[in-house]
Amino acid sequence: MCGVIGLLTRREAGTRLVEGLLALQHRGQDSAGVLTSDGAFHLKKGNGTVAHVFNEKNLERLTGTSGVGQVRYPTIGPGSVEDAQPFSVNSPFGIAMVHNGNVTNYSDLRRELECTDFRQLTSFSDVEPILNVFAEELDRTDLRAFGPASVFRAVEGVFRRVKGAYSVVALIHKRGLLAFRDPHGLRPLVFARADNEFAFASESVAFDLLGFHRFSDVKAGEAVFVDSRGAVHREQLRPGKPSPCIFEYVYFARPDSVIDGIGVYDARLRLGERLAAEVAHHEMKPDVIVPVPDTARAAASSLASTLGIELREGLIKNRYIARTFIMHGQERRSLSVRQKLNPVRSQLEGKDVLLVDDSIVRGTTSREIVQMVRDAGARKVFLAITAPPLRCPCVYGIDMMTRGEFVAKDRTVEQIRRVVRADALVYQTYPGLVEAVAGPRPSSLTPRSFCTACFNGDYPTGVTQRYFAQMERERRRWLK
Ligand code: SF4
Repeated sequence: MCGVIGLLTRREAGTRLVEGLLALQHRGQDSAGVLTSDGAFHLKKGNGTVAHVFNEKNLERLTGTSGVGQVRYPTIGPGSVEDAQPFSVNSPFGIAMVHNGNVTNYSDLRRELECTDFRQLTSFSDVEPILNVFAEELDRTDLRAFGPASVFRAVEGVFRRVKGAYSVVALIHKRGLLAFRDPHGLRPLVFARADNEFAFASESVAFDLLGFHRFSDVKAGEAVFVDSRGAVHREQLRPGKPSPCIFEYVYFARPDSVIDGIGVYDARLRLGERLAAEVAHHEMKPDVIVPVPDTARAAASSLASTLGIELREGLIKNRYIARTFIMHGQERRSLSVRQKLNPVRSQLEGKDVLLVDDSIVRGTTSREIVQMVRDAGARKVFLAITAPPLRCPCVYGIDMMTRGEFVAKDRTVEQIRRVVRADALVYQTYPGLVEAVAGPRPSSLTPRSFCTACFNGDYPTGVTQRYFAQMERERRRWLK
């Protein structure tokens, strides 16, 4: 999972791109990068958060009124600075590209590009093959008649050759800004315009900060090209079978974002309301409801008000510690839980506490939190999860790739309860998840539209066993 941004404006773009990346920082903290154009390309990228990578001095060099940027959350490759985005090529034009997602035919594509097409890739980032395929496909068009049609034919070539999840923003030197979303629209991508300025971003929160007030989603299988004169060209290149990631609403996206017409905060409130029915069904009688900060807070508040039980901030988060889901290695994750969360003893002591969290992946983090609340004096600790059990690897960009890592893989809910050492455990149901996220209003997304593969193994793009085996091998190698 990563955050991407692109800007075509009349003002200096460098600082604004960096500000936009700050709003997307929750989507990746491994590296950050920005490329701007003032007739020449200017690039700054490095490992670390946005605040680590950019400073006054290097921002001065990012001159120009257009550019692209990315914050990375690595799912493939060693996570070195060579993999930081943006990437660029010089033929047939200067093209800089950023992406969010995961290419599932990466190895085949890399082999094809290097052995058949004699291109040389310099990293393990999967935006590099996308960029090279796009450049090749553009080169096959009549470049003397370059226009939106040439760009769209090249994107069609990407759709034909690149499998998996990819939301892409690209700057084509002196020609314009392009964005496209794979035919399943697995990862979010939004487009905004104000006067004669244009922006693309992974989440609408970036636009709030940059002063864009109206936006629309780039649709699954759609490409949007803003040419250098500011004319907007949109084309639905594939019929589009929308299957956006449902986990964005549960955990990953910021609550103040709107993705595919659905407010993330509203979806989380509905998840809490649905979960309340499950909690009541299990006859838990907590004295107090405590959200595990931050993503479960909205669901915990609606769950508490539905059940008429007090909500208390019994766990306080140190906001300067990175999100545990993003951190690699169990030891780092365990240490991070204690660094990240601290109990408020006065709100827990002598009480039956219902903790609300968004997911259980490996079970170790939940066990640490349950124990922390018990150590703070809670009489009983119940756990309610706003999503159903995670059982299958995500191949579309979220770091939970190997099947063996899921505590729910071959356990019942009762067995998971024993692993996390809670007094009771209740999960959201699958219908509860999809209906809560889709919401009650008419929407182009029906409950059946979402990707829910990590819960039920139903992969919208289809995934071979060979790919799973390869991902597991690579992941083990990189995490050693
Ligand atoms: Fe999202 Fe899960 Fe699908 Fe991955 S597998 S894209 S996390 S819903």
